[in-house]
Amino acid sequence: MGATTESGVVTRFAPSPTGFLHIGGARTALFNWLFARHHGGKFLLRIEDTDRARSTQPAIDAILDGMRWLGLDWDGEAVHQFARAARHAEVAQQMLAAGHAYKCYATPEELAALREEQRAAGKPIRYDGRWRDRDPAEAPERAPFVVRLKAPREGATTIHDRVQGDVTVQNGEIDDFVLLRSDGTPTYMLAVVVDDHDMGVTHVIRGDDHLNNAFRQLPLMKAMGWAEPVYAHIPLIHGADGAKLSKRHGALGVDAYRDEMGLLPEAVDNYLLRLGWGHGDDEIISREQAIEWFDLDGVGKSPSRFDFKKLENLNGHYIREADDARLTDLVAPRLPFELSASQRNLLQRTMPVLKPRAANLIELAENAMFLFRTRPLEMDDAASDLLGGDAPALLARVHAALASVNDWESGALEAAVRQVAEAAGVKLGAVAQPLRAALTGRKTSPGIFDVLELLGREESLGRIADRMAVQA
Ligand code: GLU
Repeated sequence: MGATTESGVVTRFAPSPTGFLHIGGARTALFNWLFARHHGGKFLLRIEDTDRARSTQPAIDAILDGMRWLGLDWDGEAVHQFARAARHAEVAQQMLAAGHAYKCYATPEELAALREEQRAAGKPIRYDGRWRDRDPAEAPERAPFVVRLKAPREGATTIHDRVQGDVTVQNGEIDDFVLLRSDGTPTYMLAVVVDDHDMGVTHVIRGDDHLNNAFRQLPLMKAMGWAEPVYAHIPLIHGADGAKLSKRHGALGVDAYRDEMGLLPEAVDNYLLRLGWGHGDDEIISREQAIEWFDLDGVGKSPSRFDFKKLENLNGHYIREADDARLTDLVAPRLPFELSASQRNLLQRTMPVLKPRAANLIELAENAMFLFRTRPLEMDDAASDLLGGDAPALLARVHAALASVNDWESGALEAAVRQVAEAAGVKLGAVAQPLRAALTGRKTSPGIFDVLELLGREESLGRIADRMAVQA
């Protein structure tokens, strides 16, 4: 365990279900998960569904599905923020009773006029506290009101952020923001603070786009006498060109990484871990190592750049490491037909020679297709090009040589093909390339002797015969 062992750690991931689980959110979840697991603490999940117009059930499902796929299991039941509205309102009432909040009767028209005035004067747009010290007796009868935080005006607030370092903001810059709307519903800012407190969150690890919010959330906590969490605001992910991450850069849902790009979850996890966190020069980091090593000190301060090539290289590594039966399960549904039991078995036996050549499951499925094509094989253009000239005659000699091989295994098959090349006075490649085309319909494939062995005698000789010149 690292030197920074802290006890009783509770982290949380708090996505707003207004869209899929995007790659930045997945990284935030991963960091929270790793930090909690490293310290033997708890990792909680809170669905921030207070924005009723934009929160959807399909988005919630996509988030949970994405987290399960990435192996980010959460402790206990997921908390749904909207269901806790009564508790949030209760806290606002307590704040009001204790004088840490006040009722504001300013009408929307009044506030619009205020904003217009501030804009015209080139001042920051901010509520001016017009009901802060006013006698509530002056309130118009039965008029709607909101409840606002009575934020401190003097002094400054410093956050000792574990990633950003010390960050100080003058209290005068923090506005008396709304806690309860005029319809009695809590605002997001109130809900986050109450939920983090009630869930016992000790460490808030989230994107640095929320750093400003921390300065608004802190006075609320202080007013309630609640302990401040440790903050770690992690830099956002940028595209390879340094611009803010967009769809073009890979700001997609994790389901796209799984389904459309054919990546393995351990590769995505490993990549996301390295995106903003480092442990020396280590690139390939297993989950066990990540749990052992992860800390907040290793999180960089500058935005990291999304590098798809790197992700794909990692994926290639994890494909090579993956168990053949598992890969067979993942590739089978990507083939354009249902596999019979014997085809499945063949696919699994072929995995060891397919694995080294694929960067993702899509390539793996494509590269496996030669096993299942039926005779006469359709040739792609590159394969057809290999079958002109002397190729049909050479294939006839290969056919004859292979037909007399007794033990159909790659070593004996290789010896037979080499003999044909030697006798014909050509390089092995001059025989192997047309042979590959005949056997697979493609210019590239796993090693040709493995292909022969896997296809078996009858199928191999049949495919060769389809492409050879009939001998005189
Ligand atoms: N719901 C916020 C978001 O999805 C996160 C809030 C937080 O972590 O405090 O960006």
